[in-house]
Amino acid sequence: MTEQLLSICGLYAAVDGKEILKGVDLQINKGEVHVIMGPNGSGKSTLVNLIMGQPKYEMTAGSIAFEGEDISALKIHERARKGIFLSFQNPEEIPGITVENLIRTSQNAISGETVKIMAFKKNLQKAMDALKMDTAYASRHVNVGFSGGEKKRNEILQMMMLNPKLALLDETDSGLDVDAVRIVSAGVSRFKNAQNGVLIITHNTKILEQLQVDRVHVLMNGRIICSGDAGLVDKINSEGYSSLVSGGCKNAG
Ligand code: ADP
Ligand code: MG
Repeated sequence: MTEQLLSICGLYAAVDGKEILKGVDLQINKGEVHVIMGPNGSGKSTLVNLIMGQPKYEMTAGSIAFEGEDISALKIHERARKGIFLSFQNPEEIPGITVENLIRTSQNAISGETVKIMAFKKNLQKAMDALKMDTAYASRHVNVGFSGGEKKRNEILQMMMLNPKLALLDETDSGLDVDAVRIVSAGVSRFKNAQNGVLIITHNTKILEQLQVDRVHVLMNGRIICSGDAGLVDKINSEGYSSLVSGGCKNAG
């Protein structure tokens, strides 16, 4: 039996008084990988920030349910505690806080327990090895002086360590070289299991090669104009978005 993880219905949203999302419906079940593609400015980041509960984004209509519970009124940390994780498109620098400290503090806050330090360090080392990250990054201040690619890899490290039920990845592959995309993709693939779900926003289909993609959605002007199986990615790559607008969506499967 499929179990619903995320259910979004009739979602409208605004940023600084400007309407960005205009009626989005999206269902993600446990065990599924969904992909959102779409032109710049179509509302992709708005959608995932809204699911995470970033206060800057205002939900004006509709509902967001997580594991059957309406979470629209919950604060960002409450949603994190429920198991939602967002990898930011533009990760911010946090001077004064080390990578290790941020992850340990987040784990404590999410679980409500104090994580055992030796076990934590062992897991962190394992995750960093998997992402081919130098151990020295653990004691550096979060994202300070990191290259774009290093920031993105650090986001995936957080995802692996926090082990959320739903991971929202906003262009985590942008700015990465080919090898790094492969490592990040393998990291996501390792993380994925039958009980969790992943929503990936991407322009670069390389990240999808090592993943079993269940559903692809195209967001344009604040609406999902087309959904299909993994084959839709190839169609977009060869024909672009314009063919979908002019009625080409029906073959998407
Ligand atoms: P995408 O991630 O698909 O590129 P975004 O969700 O970031 O798109 O943005 C959608 C639209 O919202 C864009 O037109 C963008 O300019 C606008 N937007 C985003 N943030 C703000 C803001 N703080 N104030 C006004 N408009 C914004
Ligand atoms: Mg974006």
